[in-house]
Amino acid sequence: MSMSEVHVSTHPLVLHKLALLRDHRTDPKMFRELLREMAVLIAYEATADLKTQKVTVTTPMGEATGHRLRERVGLVPILRAGLGMVEGIWNLMPNTEVWHIGLFRDEKTLEPVEYYNRLPVSPTVDVCLVLDPMLATGGSAVATVDILKRWGASRIKFAGVIAAPEGVQRMTEVHPDVPLHLGAVDECLNEVGYIVPGLGDAGDRLFGTG
Ligand code: URA
Repeated sequence: MSMSEVHVSTHPLVLHKLALLRDHRTDPKMFRELLREMAVLIAYEATADLKTQKVTVTTPMGEATGHRLRERVGLVPILRAGLGMVEGIWNLMPNTEVWHIGLFRDEKTLEPVEYYNRLPVSPTVDVCLVLDPMLATGGSAVATVDILKRWGASRIKFAGVIAAPEGVQRMTEVHPDVPLHLGAVDECLNEVGYIVPGLGDAGDRLFGTG
């Protein structure tokens, strides 16, 4: 893939839920539910090109030709807000593996610092879906994809809910082979790295720690 793919969902359900997710009056329980549902909708779009193989199944009426997923998928949530995107997608694809990457943003440099990574020695999946609701500076997403590429992952996709133009630009420059699947691209980042208008701190709103 030579050109970056940036997919911003136009699905009415994504748009409707995104407005509720952004609303400052949305409490953590509702926030968790909305994020879980939005993750499923965005993952549905992000997995539209997964490869399948033909299978034959026996119905009560006879034989039918069907399809079975051929590729093994790994979910890679970036701690901690990425956790809010796991459960719904995992229910949708129960055979996926979940590999956590822990990065925090250094408050001064805004650069990601890795503190958790338990990937197995060599890749066990064909497609990695990196999950982080907020693509802000792009630092964490770029670092996670760096880790996955060093690991040997062959196909990597990113699924997020809100991106800043700065994050989209950084990811598409550094990792043009990684398609981005997003719910919205907002106006800008503020001076402390928050997306405007965004939704505030996704981790705090998810875990009620704000
Ligand atoms: N992370 C968040 O949770 N929110 C932002 O706006 C930017 C990064």
